Amino acid sequence: MKKYRTAILLFTIFVAIAVALYLITGKLFLLLNFGYIGLCLGIGAALTASGWRHARLFVQFAVGLYILVFLGLICHENMQIEGFWYYLFLGVVGAGTLHYAIAKIFGPLLFGRGWCGYACWTAMVLDLLPYKQPKGPRKRIGYIRYIVFGLSLALVVVLFLIGEATPSVMFRLFILGNIVYYIVGIALAVAFCDNRAFCKYICPVTVFLKPMSRYSLLRIRYDADKCIHCGKCAEVCPMDVEVTNDSRKKKNATECILCHNCTRACPVKALK
Ligand code: SF4
Ligand code: SF4
Repeated sequence: MKKYRTAILLFTIFVAIAVALYLITGKLFLLLNFGYIGLCLGIGAALTASGWRHARLFVQFAVGLYILVFLGLICHENMQIEGFWYYLFLGVVGAGTLHYAIAKIFGPLLFGRGWCGYACWTAMVLDLLPYKQPKGPRKRIGYIRYIVFGLSLALVVVLFLIGEATPSVMFRLFILGNIVYYIVGIALAVAFCDNRAFCKYICPVTVFLKPMSRYSLLRIRYDADKCIHCGKCAEVCPMDVEVTNDSRKKKNATECILCHNCTRACPVKALK
Protein backbone atom coordinates (compact mmCIF):
# COMPACT_ATOMS: atom_id res chain seq x y z
CA MET A 1 0.00 0.00 0.00
CA LYS A 2 2.90 2.32 0.83
CA LYS A 3 4.08 2.44 -2.79
CA TYR A 4 0.67 3.75 -3.88
CA ARG A 5 0.58 6.67 -1.47
CA THR A 6 1.54 9.22 -4.18
CA ALA A 7 -1.32 7.95 -6.33
CA ILE A 8 -3.75 8.19 -3.44
CA LEU A 9 -2.45 11.64 -2.48
CA LEU A 10 -2.79 13.04 -6.01
CA PHE A 11 -6.23 11.55 -6.54
CA THR A 12 -7.48 12.81 -3.16
CA ILE A 13 -6.16 16.33 -3.70
CA PHE A 14 -7.71 16.66 -7.15
CA VAL A 15 -11.04 15.27 -5.98
CA ALA A 16 -10.96 17.74 -3.07
CA ILE A 17 -10.27 20.58 -5.52
CA ALA A 18 -13.09 19.34 -7.79
CA VAL A 19 -15.61 19.16 -4.95
CA ALA A 20 -14.53 22.51 -3.47
CA LEU A 21 -14.84 24.28 -6.83
CA TYR A 22 -18.22 22.67 -7.43
CA LEU A 23 -19.52 23.77 -4.02
CA ILE A 24 -18.18 27.32 -4.49
CA THR A 25 -19.32 27.86 -8.08
CA GLY A 26 -22.12 25.34 -8.55
CA LYS A 27 -20.55 24.35 -11.89
CA LEU A 28 -20.80 20.63 -12.57
CA PHE A 29 -18.18 21.00 -15.27
CA LEU A 30 -15.49 21.84 -12.69
CA LEU A 31 -16.38 18.76 -10.66
CA LEU A 32 -16.09 16.51 -13.71
CA ASN A 33 -13.02 18.27 -15.12
CA PHE A 34 -10.83 18.07 -12.03
CA GLY A 35 -12.29 14.70 -11.08
CA TYR A 36 -11.23 13.33 -14.46
CA ILE A 37 -7.72 14.81 -14.24
CA GLY A 38 -7.33 13.50 -10.67
CA LEU A 39 -8.43 10.05 -11.79
CA CYS A 40 -5.92 10.02 -14.66
CA LEU A 41 -3.09 11.19 -12.39
CA GLY A 42 -4.02 8.71 -9.67
CA ILE A 43 -4.16 5.79 -12.12
CA GLY A 44 -0.92 6.94 -13.75
CA ALA A 45 0.92 7.23 -10.44
CA ALA A 46 -0.36 3.79 -9.39
CA LEU A 47 0.74 2.24 -12.70
CA THR A 48 4.14 3.96 -12.36
CA ALA A 49 4.50 2.59 -8.83
CA SER A 50 3.62 -0.88 -10.06
CA GLY A 51 6.45 -0.66 -12.60
CA TRP A 52 4.64 -0.18 -15.93
CA ARG A 53 7.14 1.82 -17.99
CA HIS A 54 4.53 3.42 -20.26
CA ALA A 55 2.40 4.75 -17.41
CA ARG A 56 3.63 8.31 -17.80
CA LEU A 57 2.91 8.44 -21.53
CA PHE A 58 -0.54 6.98 -20.87
CA VAL A 59 -1.37 9.79 -18.43
CA GLN A 60 0.20 12.41 -20.65
CA PHE A 61 -2.09 11.43 -23.53
CA ALA A 62 -5.17 11.00 -21.33
CA VAL A 63 -4.78 14.49 -19.83
CA GLY A 64 -3.03 16.26 -22.70
CA LEU A 65 -5.56 15.18 -25.35
CA TYR A 66 -8.44 16.03 -23.03
CA ILE A 67 -7.15 19.60 -22.60
CA LEU A 68 -6.08 20.10 -26.21
CA VAL A 69 -9.02 18.48 -27.99
CA PHE A 70 -11.94 18.76 -25.59
CA LEU A 71 -11.26 22.00 -23.71
CA GLY A 72 -9.35 23.70 -26.51
CA LEU A 73 -10.70 22.60 -29.87
CA ILE A 74 -14.25 21.61 -28.89
CA CYS A 75 -15.03 24.03 -26.04
CA HIS A 76 -12.97 26.86 -27.59
CA GLU A 77 -11.02 27.65 -24.42
CA ASN A 78 -7.58 29.13 -24.96
CA MET A 79 -5.55 26.93 -22.59
CA GLN A 80 -2.21 28.46 -23.50
CA ILE A 81 -0.53 31.27 -21.60
CA GLU A 82 -2.37 33.87 -23.68
CA GLY A 83 -5.65 32.42 -22.37
CA PHE A 84 -4.36 32.86 -18.83
CA TRP A 85 -3.59 36.54 -19.42
CA TYR A 86 -6.93 36.99 -21.19
CA TYR A 87 -9.03 35.69 -18.31
CA LEU A 88 -6.82 37.40 -15.77
CA PHE A 89 -7.39 40.82 -17.41
CA LEU A 90 -11.11 40.11 -17.74
CA GLY A 91 -11.14 39.37 -14.00
CA VAL A 92 -13.13 36.17 -14.45
CA VAL A 93 -12.39 32.67 -13.24
CA GLY A 94 -12.11 30.98 -16.63
CA ALA A 95 -10.62 27.64 -17.64
CA GLY A 96 -7.30 29.32 -18.43
CA THR A 97 -6.88 30.98 -15.02
CA LEU A 98 -7.98 27.91 -13.06
CA HIS A 99 -5.76 25.69 -15.16
CA TYR A 100 -2.72 27.89 -14.57
CA ALA A 101 -3.42 28.40 -10.87
CA ILE A 102 -3.68 24.66 -10.20
CA ALA A 103 -1.29 23.09 -12.71
CA LYS A 104 1.38 25.74 -13.04
CA ILE A 105 1.45 28.21 -10.16
CA PHE A 106 0.34 26.63 -6.87
CA GLY A 107 0.24 22.93 -7.81
CA PRO A 108 4.02 22.79 -8.39
CA LEU A 109 4.48 23.34 -4.66
CA LEU A 110 3.11 19.80 -4.37
CA PHE A 111 4.06 18.03 -7.62
CA GLY A 112 6.84 20.21 -9.04
CA ARG A 113 6.98 20.01 -12.81
CA GLY A 114 4.67 17.04 -12.91
CA TRP A 115 2.69 19.09 -15.42
CA CYS A 116 5.58 18.81 -17.90
CA GLY A 117 5.91 15.08 -17.42
CA TYR A 118 2.28 13.99 -17.19
CA ALA A 119 -0.08 16.48 -18.81
CA CYS A 120 1.51 18.85 -21.33
CA TRP A 121 0.07 18.33 -24.79
CA THR A 122 3.15 19.80 -26.47
CA ALA A 123 5.57 17.49 -24.65
CA MET A 124 3.15 14.62 -25.26
CA VAL A 125 4.14 14.74 -28.94
CA LEU A 126 7.78 15.67 -28.36
CA ASP A 127 8.25 12.64 -26.11
CA LEU A 128 7.44 10.38 -29.08
CA LEU A 129 10.53 11.61 -30.96
CA PRO A 130 13.69 9.46 -30.88
CA TYR A 131 15.99 11.84 -28.95
CA LYS A 132 15.08 10.66 -25.47
CA GLN A 133 18.53 11.18 -23.99
CA PRO A 134 19.93 14.60 -24.86
CA LYS A 135 23.18 14.65 -26.77
CA GLY A 136 25.82 17.18 -25.80
CA PRO A 137 25.84 19.83 -23.10
CA ARG A 138 22.91 22.06 -22.27
CA LYS A 139 22.76 25.24 -24.35
CA ARG A 140 22.91 28.65 -22.71
CA ILE A 141 19.75 29.95 -24.36
CA GLY A 142 17.22 29.49 -21.55
CA TYR A 143 16.67 33.27 -21.58
CA ILE A 144 14.43 32.75 -24.64
CA ARG A 145 11.62 31.56 -22.35
CA TYR A 146 11.50 35.01 -20.72
CA ILE A 147 11.25 36.68 -24.13
CA VAL A 148 8.38 34.36 -25.15
CA PHE A 149 6.72 35.00 -21.78
CA GLY A 150 6.97 38.78 -22.28
CA LEU A 151 5.74 38.56 -25.88
CA SER A 152 2.69 36.51 -24.88
CA LEU A 153 1.77 39.13 -22.28
CA ALA A 154 2.38 42.00 -24.71
CA LEU A 155 0.26 40.30 -27.38
CA VAL A 156 -2.78 40.04 -25.10
CA VAL A 157 -2.30 43.62 -23.83
CA VAL A 158 -2.27 44.86 -27.43
CA LEU A 159 -5.41 42.85 -28.26
CA PHE A 160 -7.19 44.52 -25.34
CA LEU A 161 -5.94 47.98 -26.34
CA ILE A 162 -7.20 47.63 -29.91
CA GLY A 163 -10.47 46.02 -28.83
CA GLU A 164 -9.72 42.64 -30.44
CA ALA A 165 -9.52 40.54 -27.27
CA THR A 166 -12.59 38.47 -28.11
CA PRO A 167 -13.28 34.76 -27.57
CA SER A 168 -13.05 34.05 -31.31
CA VAL A 169 -9.69 35.81 -31.64
CA MET A 170 -8.41 33.96 -28.58
CA PHE A 171 -9.55 30.66 -30.08
CA ARG A 172 -7.73 31.34 -33.35
CA LEU A 173 -4.67 32.34 -31.34
CA PHE A 174 -4.87 29.02 -29.50
CA ILE A 175 -4.80 27.06 -32.77
CA LEU A 176 -2.02 29.20 -34.24
CA GLY A 177 0.01 29.07 -31.03
CA ASN A 178 -0.17 25.29 -30.90
CA ILE A 179 0.89 24.91 -34.51
CA VAL A 180 3.88 27.20 -33.88
CA TYR A 181 4.82 25.36 -30.67
CA TYR A 182 4.72 21.96 -32.38
CA ILE A 183 6.80 23.15 -35.34
CA VAL A 184 9.38 24.88 -33.13
CA GLY A 185 9.43 22.01 -30.62
CA ILE A 186 10.02 19.34 -33.26
CA ALA A 187 12.59 21.45 -35.13
CA LEU A 188 14.56 22.10 -31.94
CA ALA A 189 14.39 18.44 -30.91
CA VAL A 190 15.90 17.42 -34.24
CA ALA A 191 18.46 20.25 -34.30
CA PHE A 192 19.71 19.60 -30.75
CA CYS A 193 19.02 15.82 -30.72
CA ASP A 194 16.96 16.45 -27.61
CA ASN A 195 13.21 15.75 -27.32
CA ARG A 196 12.87 18.23 -24.47
CA ALA A 197 14.79 21.16 -26.01
CA PHE A 198 11.56 23.16 -26.29
CA CYS A 199 10.87 22.66 -22.57
CA LYS A 200 14.40 23.70 -21.63
CA TYR A 201 14.73 26.84 -23.71
CA ILE A 202 11.45 28.10 -25.15
CA CYS A 203 8.39 27.20 -23.09
CA PRO A 204 7.12 30.37 -21.32
CA VAL A 205 5.18 28.35 -18.75
CA THR A 206 8.44 27.39 -17.07
CA VAL A 207 8.71 31.00 -15.86
CA PHE A 208 5.96 30.03 -13.39
CA LEU A 209 6.92 26.40 -12.96
CA LYS A 210 10.60 26.67 -12.13
CA PRO A 211 10.52 28.88 -9.00
CA MET A 212 7.52 27.07 -7.53
CA SER A 213 8.85 23.58 -8.17
CA ARG A 214 12.02 24.37 -6.21
CA TYR A 215 9.90 23.82 -3.07
CA SER A 216 8.01 20.81 -4.39
CA LEU A 217 6.86 18.27 -1.83
CA LEU A 218 7.11 15.41 -4.34
CA ARG A 219 10.65 14.99 -5.63
CA ILE A 220 13.21 12.33 -6.44
CA ARG A 221 15.25 11.46 -3.34
CA TYR A 222 18.84 10.26 -3.56
CA ASP A 223 20.49 7.95 -1.06
CA ALA A 224 24.27 8.47 -1.20
CA ASP A 225 24.90 5.43 1.02
CA LYS A 226 23.42 3.07 -1.57
CA CYS A 227 24.89 4.75 -4.67
CA ILE A 228 27.66 2.89 -6.53
CA HIS A 229 28.33 5.86 -8.88
CA CYS A 230 27.58 3.97 -12.07
CA GLY A 231 26.19 7.10 -13.75
CA LYS A 232 23.16 5.33 -15.25
CA CYS A 233 20.70 7.84 -13.79
CA ALA A 234 22.44 10.82 -15.41
CA GLU A 235 22.55 8.94 -18.73
CA VAL A 236 18.77 8.53 -18.91
CA CYS A 237 17.68 11.89 -17.48
CA PRO A 238 16.03 13.92 -20.25
CA MET A 239 16.34 17.18 -18.29
CA ASP A 240 20.03 17.19 -17.31
CA VAL A 241 19.25 17.10 -13.59
CA GLU A 242 22.15 16.46 -11.22
CA VAL A 243 20.44 13.32 -9.98
CA THR A 244 23.14 12.20 -7.55
CA ASN A 245 22.60 15.11 -5.21
CA ASP A 246 19.76 15.28 -2.71
CA SER A 247 19.88 19.05 -2.27
CA ARG A 248 17.15 21.30 -3.63
CA LYS A 249 19.98 23.48 -4.94
CA LYS A 250 21.43 20.78 -7.19
CA LYS A 251 22.11 21.58 -10.82
CA ASN A 252 18.89 21.89 -12.83
CA ALA A 253 16.86 20.96 -9.75
CA THR A 254 13.83 22.84 -11.06
CA GLU A 255 13.91 20.92 -14.34
CA CYS A 256 12.88 17.51 -13.00
CA ILE A 257 9.66 16.34 -14.65
CA LEU A 258 9.31 13.31 -12.34
CA CYS A 259 9.57 10.93 -15.30
CA HIS A 260 11.15 8.19 -13.15
CA ASN A 261 13.70 7.25 -15.83
CA CYS A 262 16.41 7.57 -13.18
CA THR A 263 14.67 5.52 -10.50
CA ARG A 264 14.06 2.73 -13.04
CA ALA A 265 17.67 2.84 -14.29
CA CYS A 266 19.33 2.76 -10.88
CA PRO A 267 20.57 -0.81 -10.25
CA VAL A 268 20.76 -0.43 -6.45
CA LYS A 269 17.57 1.53 -5.73
CA ALA A 270 19.46 4.59 -4.55
CA LEU A 271 16.74 6.78 -6.03
CA LYS A 272 13.08 6.82 -5.11
S1 SF4 B 1 15.29 11.17 -14.95
FE1 SF4 B 1 14.90 11.50 -12.77
S2 SF4 B 1 15.86 13.50 -12.30
FE2 SF4 B 1 15.66 13.35 -14.54
S3 SF4 B 1 13.72 14.36 -15.00
FE3 SF4 B 1 13.27 12.17 -14.81
S4 SF4 B 1 12.70 11.90 -12.66
FE4 SF4 B 1 13.70 13.90 -12.81
S1 SF4 C 1 22.03 4.97 -11.13
FE1 SF4 C 1 21.87 4.73 -8.90
S2 SF4 C 1 23.85 3.80 -8.33
FE2 SF4 C 1 24.12 4.62 -10.40
S3 SF4 C 1 24.94 6.72 -10.04
FE3 SF4 C 1 22.71 6.91 -10.20
S4 SF4 C 1 21.99 6.82 -8.07
FE4 SF4 C 1 24.09 6.03 -8.08
